[in-house]
Amino acid sequence: MEEKKIKNRVKMREQEARERARNFIEVPYGYTPEEASEEASRCLNCLKPTCRSGCPVEVDIPSFIQLIKEGKFTEAAWKIKEKNALPAVCGRVCPQEIQCESMCILGKKGDPVAIGNLERFVSDYEASQGKIQMPEKPAPTGRKIAIIGSGPGGLTCAADLIRSGHDVTLFEALHKPGGVLVYGIPEFRLPKAIVEREVEYIKKLGVEVKVNAVIGKLFTLDELLSDYGYDACFIATGAGLPVFMGIPGENLNGVYSSNEFLTRANLMKAYLFPEYDTPIKRGKKVAVFGGGNVAMDSARVALRLGAEKVYLVYRRSEAEMPARKAEIHHAHEEGIEFMLLTAPLKFLDDGKGNVNSVECIKMELGEPDASGRRKPAPIKGSQFTLEIDVAIPAIGTRSNPLLTKTMPDLNLNKRGYIVADHETGMTTKPGVFAGGDIVTGSATVILAMGAGKKAARGINDYLKWKFWDTGGITQ
Ligand SMILES: Cc1cc2nc3c(=O)[nH]c(=O)nc-3n(C[C@H](O)[C@H](O)[C@H](O)COP(=O)(O)OP(=O)(O)OC[C@H]3O[C@@H](n4cnc5c(N)ncnc54)[C@H](O)[C@@H]3O)c2cc1C
Ligand code: SF4
Repeated sequence: MEEKKIKNRVKMREQEARERARNFIEVPYGYTPEEASEEASRCLNCLKPTCRSGCPVEVDIPSFIQLIKEGKFTEAAWKIKEKNALPAVCGRVCPQEIQCESMCILGKKGDPVAIGNLERFVSDYEASQGKIQMPEKPAPTGRKIAIIGSGPGGLTCAADLIRSGHDVTLFEALHKPGGVLVYGIPEFRLPKAIVEREVEYIKKLGVEVKVNAVIGKLFTLDELLSDYGYDACFIATGAGLPVFMGIPGENLNGVYSSNEFLTRANLMKAYLFPEYDTPIKRGKKVAVFGGGNVAMDSARVALRLGAEKVYLVYRRSEAEMPARKAEIHHAHEEGIEFMLLTAPLKFLDDGKGNVNSVECIKMELGEPDASGRRKPAPIKGSQFTLEIDVAIPAIGTRSNPLLTKTMPDLNLNKRGYIVADHETGMTTKPGVFAGGDIVTGSATVILAMGAGKKAARGINDYLKWKFWDTGGITQ
């Protein structure tokens, strides 16, 4: 019998590389209704849909795709929202290629269904029609839950717990909720209006959001649990502490941690120059150090802020880069110069405290290290100097100790991350749950969301157990 040919996936149109390299407008345009319907028609609606097991927040993928096939776009968005309060965010930045799409049966012989693109389409469609559906309000339980940190982990846990009928307050240290979604990921990948729209939805569900509230300074967690009557709490404070490279000259003017650089560009709106006159050095020759998503974002932001040349300096080869393939592809297209198998040795200054160059050395790959990636080693005598005026180390982050240092009775691992049960988020302190980057170290949006969902379940079970005589409800 002749084998049926799998149709190619419908490509998403995007801004032309040369044009977008000088603006902050979102790169892909999104599907039209016709394109979305055509892409949805590729789904086989499998009896045993393997894609579902690749979604950490348990979205009923075949059902929402079926609704798209029937032309019921808003209903498809509502279907996703039964499980996922941030569909427009996920549709844009989740690494579907290693999650749901990697499990799609079509991927065995061709392109998997573009689940992320379809998710993005229906959530934008719902918003464009002004038909945001709110779920029925559950009966109040009278229990109070505090969530610390408003990134994707905290937002997901808050949305699930409010839908269980609890009173939920979300405390955020910054002046805007969203975590990395607002201060890290740039506008051209995730427009801030999209994050605001999804945070507004969570507020409308009934979650109270308190910004400028640094827990550990304003109140300790123990005070929230004892004096302010919270019955349980979820810590989702992320891994936002920058790591430096520890080389000479890193304290020179013009050397920014990627965190500081991206926060100034995104949260402090340097990207809206001249409307916002945010202090940020707009380098002409910028070097970014690292090979992950954060490095790609920093390089592409530097370009859009007006750099003539942006170097991406990475000590391994492109095959070892941890960034998403799509981001690497976009960075190449936009003209970022990849300096692979290269490591910085020291920053040099202009005699007035400003960085003006970086001394680098060429590397070669040896045997695999503990991470399974081939270990880079310097090539003797291969030093060279690169002229730059801005440098951005983007080699990773660590856990922020601000809250955890006020909680000596909470178990941390040797890297300072909170020890929590993988399935429930339960920590070693009764009533305290944790998840997302503060437990795993820097990971992904969808993994933080999955942890928030599991912790919401864990908190519900804990309340039932703690108040077993009332089933977790105040009487
Ligand atoms: C530049 C960049 C690009 C990225 N790109 C992607 C991508 O494309 N796809 C992807 O899947 N992942 C990406 N990631 C990773 C992803 O964003 C994170 O894994 C995810 O945001 C972690 O979520 P979280 O909820 O654990 O914490 P976060 O998003 O870090 O949020 C933590 C929040 O807690 C707040 N907080 C901290 N301490 C306190 C305190 N004491 N009191 C009150 N609030 C506090 C912080 O201000 C912050 O708002 C990227 C990360 C960065 C930095
Ligand atoms: S595995 Fe792929 S084809 Fe099958 S239901 Fe899921 S998305 Fe559709």
